[in-house]
Amino acid sequence: MTTMHKRFLLASRPTGEATVDNFQLVEAPLDERLHEGQVLVRHHYLSLDPYMRGRMSDAKSYAPPQPLGEVMIGGTAGEVIASRDPRFAAGDFVVGMGGWQTHQKAGPNDRTLRKVDASRVPLSAYLGAVGMPGVTAWYGLTQIIAPKPGATVVVSAASGAVGSVVGQLAKARGVRAVGIAGGREKCDYVRDELGFDACVDYKEHRDVQSLSRAIAEACPDGVDGLFENVGGMVMDAVMLRTNPFARVAVCGMIAGYEGQPIPMAFPALVLTNRLRLEGFIVSEHPEHWPAALKELGELVATGKLKYRETIAKGLERAPEAFLGMLKGKNFGKQLVDLR
Ligand code: NDP
Repeated sequence: MTTMHKRFLLASRPTGEATVDNFQLVEAPLDERLHEGQVLVRHHYLSLDPYMRGRMSDAKSYAPPQPLGEVMIGGTAGEVIASRDPRFAAGDFVVGMGGWQTHQKAGPNDRTLRKVDASRVPLSAYLGAVGMPGVTAWYGLTQIIAPKPGATVVVSAASGAVGSVVGQLAKARGVRAVGIAGGREKCDYVRDELGFDACVDYKEHRDVQSLSRAIAEACPDGVDGLFENVGGMVMDAVMLRTNPFARVAVCGMIAGYEGQPIPMAFPALVLTNRLRLEGFIVSEHPEHWPAALKELGELVATGKLKYRETIAKGLERAPEAFLGMLKGKNFGKQLVDLR
């Protein structure tokens, strides 16, 4: 039977909100021939991440746009099925940046492909808690907020891939962890299963003052650190509760990824509360990845770090799952099962 190679190309750039029509599915028989140094990988999982929305656009950003007509960028986990690179053998489990496709041929210059041990940590977790999102949480918390035991740290998008890890790492460091998430079910999960001290449902609040009062109740000693994933009203409401010298790790602004305006309502607080705000891009800090991955891998392998996944079945579902994730339809790490 012929094995088919399916891939999604970026067909057009969104004007306004992204739609499924921005992607094009292409299918052809898999060419299994390899040149010296090449590795053929069959992808098991594709990671869907908010940053992809930025790459679909050609607006100026920290990374160049995804070229039109090429396979959509994306993190992948899979299995080597053939190799002409002595570093890899058939049967190895690997992660890489294979893109939105069922298979990839990685060349000798591909520095993203690396072997992983799928015996202690499930393969899919290398795209979440023990992958880029986990390292993002680790970096922003430990290197930017650097909370002392007893401090209070708030994280938005708390049930998601990054946010869920932020709160659990904070708790492990003796910090009060407070989440913000959309909906009762996500908040219950964040508090009862992930062990955060409290979680505020931002969808219950129509304005920033009301949300800010709820945050004050959850943070009786004020906010010493904010791990910001959302921006807009959610960020403003927490900023109002910051203690003097609080630190804000600006990780993401997902409330504005589809072009919505997200002005900062109270910029004067940066001065009056002597806040330190720092944006970061996790891929720019490769020196921290080994320590972060070691800690995260150990925590997941020993069951101390919990995570949840929403898994769409089949590459065909990737665009819909991606657009849903941008609107909060995911619960935990959004993946696509490509097998
Ligand atoms: P998540 O798994 O958290 O999924 C995204 C979540 O964002 C949704 O589930 C939804 O949760 C929430 N959300 C979407 N729109 C809004 C909105 N308007 N207001 C409030 N919440 C909203 O994604 P990730 O964990 O992968 O990413 C989280 C953030 O981290 C993103 O902003 C991303 O861009 C950023 N990031 C930054 C990196 C860096 O290097 N700086 C690296 C990786 C991620 P809910 O239902 O609770 O609203």
